[in-house]
Amino acid sequence: MSYSKEDLRDLYNGTLPWGQVKEIMSNPKDDDRFDKYIEILQESVLWEERILMPLGEHIFVVEKDGERITKCDCGHEFGDWRQNWKLNALIYVRDDRVKLEEIYPGIRCPDPDICEVREYYCPGCGALLKVESVPVGHPPLFEILPDIDVFYREWLGTPLKHEKEFKDRTYEVTREWGKET
Ligand SMILES: [Zn+2]
Repeated sequence: MSYSKEDLRDLYNGTLPWGQVKEIMSNPKDDDRFDKYIEILQESVLWEERILMPLGEHIFVVEKDGERITKCDCGHEFGDWRQNWKLNALIYVRDDRVKLEEIYPGIRCPDPDICEVREYYCPGCGALLKVESVPVGHPPLFEILPDIDVFYREWLGTPLKHEKEFKDRTYEVTREWGKET
């Protein structure tokens, strides 16, 4: 079973009729689903860099000049994909009752002495990229650090040309910040 790119585009955009959505959900994934998905994503952006993997609704890991970076669909670049892109985003922190009650009114409001809600926005287009609710003072969650080489080599069977060391390099950003203070 292989679905058309048009159907899959409608599926991802949320415009496919429920009957067809249910059918696709119930069937085994077709072998070329990821390739088609990447093609659809690639056609939706205005820049040329190859999309390797989506990380969210607006951001992707892309290949640029032999490197892999995190990039927003507007074109804004966040740097090496092994560094938590959130450290280079605009951040709005809801850390008091007034700010939290805008989202969680009344008794649903979390205790601002225990919990804060952070909203991460793209500096290029202002899109809300991620929201996290964490204990006060918790480092930004690095939610997705995909091992892209393993995925392409062992799952897709199409290894990428320039394999990269797989490790979290977020500390390099904070280390630079430390030098500046
Ligand atoms: Zn953007």
